[in-house]
Amino acid sequence: MLMISPIPAFKDNYIWMLHIPSSKDVFVVDPGDATVVEARLTRDGLNLAGILITHHHHDHTGGVGELTRHRSIPVYGPDNPAITGITHRLKDGDAIHLNTVRFTIIATPGHTLDHIAYFTEFGDNPALFCGDTLFVGGCGRLFEGTAQQMYASLMRLAALPGNTHIYCAHEYTQANLRFALAVEPDNPVLQQRAQQVARARSDNQPTVPSTLSQELATNPFLRSDQPGVIQAACGQGGDADSSPAEVLGIIRAWKDNF
Ligand code: ZN
Ligand code: FE
Repeated sequence: MLMISPIPAFKDNYIWMLHIPSSKDVFVVDPGDATVVEARLTRDGLNLAGILITHHHHDHTGGVGELTRHRSIPVYGPDNPAITGITHRLKDGDAIHLNTVRFTIIATPGHTLDHIAYFTEFGDNPALFCGDTLFVGGCGRLFEGTAQQMYASLMRLAALPGNTHIYCAHEYTQANLRFALAVEPDNPVLQQRAQQVARARSDNQPTVPSTLSQELATNPFLRSDQPGVIQAACGQGGDADSSPAEVLGIIRAWKDNF
């Protein structure tokens, strides 16, 4: 078993903490801020055993230097020399073991070119740590990659088991679903989900993780082959013959200015 809990950082980041319950060992994903991680370790009497990085952005890597200054621990991350402190540079298809839990690496270029995601089957409870690639209700901005690359990355994630829990790195859900409703106003699952999320946020509850099935039913960036999404893209410069990747590019650009 593995326990997964969020350490909130900055305005809307989640640093996911993976805890092996039989030990004091924990791993953290994308520690942009060392201070909040150290505070949690001290509070709960835990031992930092390693770090996982999804991409080079500072809000995901900024704490690595400080967290490793007095610790000799593995730092897993993309094969990008621009990220300092990585001890294990990973590429698509690689596998790592955190304690006894096996994770496979999925390259997910789009938001950045170096972006990777970590997937574990984890018995009946698969989990995906996908950084800024797939968000609950949305996807990352295309800072470095093309719409085609992001589409291909999202389709690889979409092929994972439907019960996969999606642990993304930001609490962007409410704004994402406002946009999703502009794309698919008549999607009943989305309408219901938006209400549920509004309640959770008014209680200050995280809306992450969601499940892949939930994302497939509500996330417009996973639905760019659906008639309602294609139709919405037509109103933004697309046409009925636009490919799903083109539709994704059109709605991503629309979201940038939404
Ligand atoms: Zn980012
Ligand atoms: Fe980020």
